[in-house]
Amino acid sequence: MKVILVSLVFICAVFSFGHLCAANTQEDEYGPLPESIRKKITGKSWKEGCPVSMDQLSYLKVKYWGFDNKPHIGELIVNKAIAEDTVKVFKELFEVKYPIQSMKLPSYYVDHPDDPTRKNNTSAFYFRKDTQSPNKNSIHSYGIAIDLNPFYNPAIVAHGKVEPEGAEKYLNRKLKHKGMIHEGDDVFMIMTKHGWAWGQYFKQGVDPMHFEKIVNRQYIIKSLEYYPNKWAIDEAL
Ligand SMILES: [Zn+2]
Repeated sequence: MKVILVSLVFICAVFSFGHLCAANTQEDEYGPLPESIRKKITGKSWKEGCPVSMDQLSYLKVKYWGFDNKPHIGELIVNKAIAEDTVKVFKELFEVKYPIQSMKLPSYYVDHPDDPTRKNNTSAFYFRKDTQSPNKNSIHSYGIAIDLNPFYNPAIVAHGKVEPEGAEKYLNRKLKHKGMIHEGDDVFMIMTKHGWAWGQYFKQGVDPMHFEKIVNRQYIIKSLEYYPNKWAIDEAL
């Protein structure tokens, strides 16, 4: 069975069929953006001027453990360079039952702005300006960053504004709540082990919902600085 799955992934990588390929489990899949998804995101999370083309992105379906203590299937779009890694990461998050409230494509909320899960939706690719430096594209525009449970891991963005609105209470990182991420916990360990840097340690601003994959950025992103996380430095010394 393992051989078949490995072969499928290999065939998928080499020939890039127009449909999704099974990755680690039957539920976890990734592949080129289907036509229906391209239509859904056009003019919403993907627009003219986006630094990556739709062909550089992958559409993922991954299992996640819900706030309702049940398994669910979520949708994500990431850069295809990190699609397989992202599937692995979410498989591990599912195994430790890290609770995620919602995992819909951000384009969904353009049509459903009043959906109560909007402020706590876990998502990755989104072409938009950086919340810290509004003259630059956000790393999410390249599909290499993920925001996990934003409402319970709020960011302090430009001019001291809290994002998402109304989540001020959870700036207190000593609190405990479903979906909160703390240094050294399961989420932190899984993400950093796979080479994702945590936004809590960013020099500019505090962004604990945010993890970004450290890739060979000279091909994907220009002029981005990476600040190693404090935990990694402590471990190295
Ligand atoms: Zn983010």
